Amino acid sequence: MAAWVCSKCGYVRDSRCKPKKCPNCNAQDSYGKAEDSKKA
Ligand SMILES: [Zn+2]
Repeated sequence: MAAWVCSKCGYVRDSRCKPKKCPNCNAQDSYGKAEDSKKA
């Protein structure tokens, strides 16, 4: 699964697909892919 982070408020969501709308700040199309830091 990919992690997505809102560029406006920093809210992180786990989803296979890019979220269209941020549930936290209601920004549209503000998501960018977050780097997966699980690999050590
Ligand atoms: Zn947001």
